[in-house]
Amino acid sequence: MSDITTQPSQQDPSLKSYKTLLAENTQLASSPLQDPSRKTNEYAIHCPRCKSKVVGKGVACWPPALPIFVTDSSHSSTPPHLWLITDMMAFDNVGFSRPAPGTSDLRYLSCADCELGPIGVHDPDMKDKDGKKLFLLAVDRVRYRVV
Ligand SMILES: [Zn+2]
Repeated sequence: MSDITTQPSQQDPSLKSYKTLLAENTQLASSPLQDPSRKTNEYAIHCPRCKSKVVGKGVACWPPALPIFVTDSSHSSTPPHLWLITDMMAFDNVGFSRPAPGTSDLRYLSCADCELGPIGVHDPDMKDKDGKKLFLLAVDRVRYRVV
């Protein structure tokens, strides 16, 4: 996988990072990039490097609380904000790593086109209350198509 810090070769002004959006609109902090009524993502989510669409608008939700998936004590920092997607078929484009070392089958998500990652994580042992699988995207590792 490529380094997440790789800069895009071309700047695309309509693709913005979470930090940029926060800086431009301080109200986002209370309702982070969400459609206020549906509680889903207001903007399509894209790969920060090749700009492929990862998920479309209205597919991911930002739950107020998530089970902490990292139990390793070396990861004791604050968990990142995460978008939650419960249907793998809802992705436009996503790749999976091999199982992470020391886990049963935890996989990191990457861009399927350019393999930039990790941009998220999938732990097959973790399910929501309805038994749906959980796919998580790190809010600050993707870009948002603001049009
Ligand atoms: Zn990509």
